Amino acid sequence: MLELSRRDLLKLSGTAMGGLALGSVLSGCSSDSVAATDPTQQNSLLAGLPTYTPGAEKLAADEMRISFMGTTCIPMISQAAVSVFVELGNGDCFLFDIGTGSMIKYWAMGINMDRMSKIFLAHLHADHMGDLSFLYGFGPSYGRNWPLYVWGPTDSGFVYTDPVGNVRGPFPDGTRAYCEALKNMMYWHNESQAFLATSYQDYPIPPYDPDPSLQRRDAYDLVPIELNWKKTGKDALGIPNNDNVAYNYNGVKITHFPAVHCRAAAVSYKLEWNGLSMIYCGDSLPNNYMIDQAKSGVDVLIHEIVMPADKWVAKMGIDPTTHPNAVQQSQNVQDSSHTPQKAYGYILDQLEQAGKAPRLAVGTHFQATDDTIKLALEDIRKWYPQGDVTIASDTMVLNVTKSGVTQRRAVVSNYAWPKTTTAIPYTSPNRPKYWKVDPITGKIDGDATAQLDPEQYKQVIDKNLYNAR
Ligand SMILES: [Zn+2]
Repeated sequence: MLELSRRDLLKLSGTAMGGLALGSVLSGCSSDSVAATDPTQQNSLLAGLPTYTPGAEKLAADEMRISFMGTTCIPMISQAAVSVFVELGNGDCFLFDIGTGSMIKYWAMGINMDRMSKIFLAHLHADHMGDLSFLYGFGPSYGRNWPLYVWGPTDSGFVYTDPVGNVRGPFPDGTRAYCEALKNMMYWHNESQAFLATSYQDYPIPPYDPDPSLQRRDAYDLVPIELNWKKTGKDALGIPNNDNVAYNYNGVKITHFPAVHCRAAAVSYKLEWNGLSMIYCGDSLPNNYMIDQAKSGVDVLIHEIVMPADKWVAKMGIDPTTHPNAVQQSQNVQDSSHTPQKAYGYILDQLEQAGKAPRLAVGTHFQATDDTIKLALEDIRKWYPQGDVTIASDTMVLNVTKSGVTQRRAVVSNYAWPKTTTAIPYTSPNRPKYWKVDPITGKIDGDATAQLDPEQYKQVIDKNLYNAR
């Protein structure tokens, strides 16, 4: 078993923050009681962070808060698939990806669906959008009574010639096609809930709606905003031309640039606001687009990393020494898609040499336990021995201000309910699709039983019978 201490991890992460409670950690994590000294079953880096209580602090007007709601590609109880929530002091908030399991973390962190209307997808792998169907479908039941906006790459344009010589493609595989298919897939779901009011007449069409003439106000409107994944913000001569702006409102600018991942049509994002900035790379081979973009100087650089292929297959219960094919298979995936730990160190070194190291570098999309974190940090440190680096896990929260980046972990309940977090300012709900007139009051209301089979409804037990006791 790997021998390492919590102190080793903190030394490697180089987090020179105040308030690290070295002596009193590992509270509140149920797996810790199972194997308190097994490095594969704990995350001391996270456990050692000072705590943050969701909902207890108002974000300062000039501050950015980044909450990690999902941090791996292999969902586990401790980590959902990737999602990053960014809140700004001006009241705006944004999601970067919404991978499988991350929705649970949003609710646990006190974020309800009324604050989850703007989603920026890095690409269309399920570990980046797996919970979109739940968010889309149940948004109208949990506070989002207006459309859901989804930014993401255009079609890949990929074309190939099959073994018998037929040219195949291009394919409808971009964000628009995805959203249309998702909406169709959710037909039964959406209709079944359509006795609820799902839109307001006085909801203002937001400026980022790509076609205001459509007057989209309904919560079951799913609005794709496609981004040309080839764009970098610079022309062929390297002169800035702003061709990669995804969002530019209310002082918030979100740009995109290419990620090189698995199949054409993946992007990374940069958010800039109030002199603060973050980059989010969901998945990519290590690339020069990233170095170029991060050279503008970012406060927080969030970048996927992957452990070596032999370590990966060993984690899956396969002996890498006797199963070289399995290692090769895993290596093939990495060679098409991912950033090795060392390569992230190399990228950070390049930035440091340019005088533009991020204030905090975060590795994510990574199964974070003491054993894997130690190896990841050691690899990153081969290139980047000094700067602040950490490995993300769910519930990690960063507060970003001009004076620094602080890291904490949120204390959350396993039993949290969704709570409406903002007062809904709209007052004029439209009539639901399925409605009726109350015979006594004359009031119009949703007709919750309109879609039941009438014969089956006759078999429903009368309330008066079981309420008699
Ligand atoms: Zn991924």
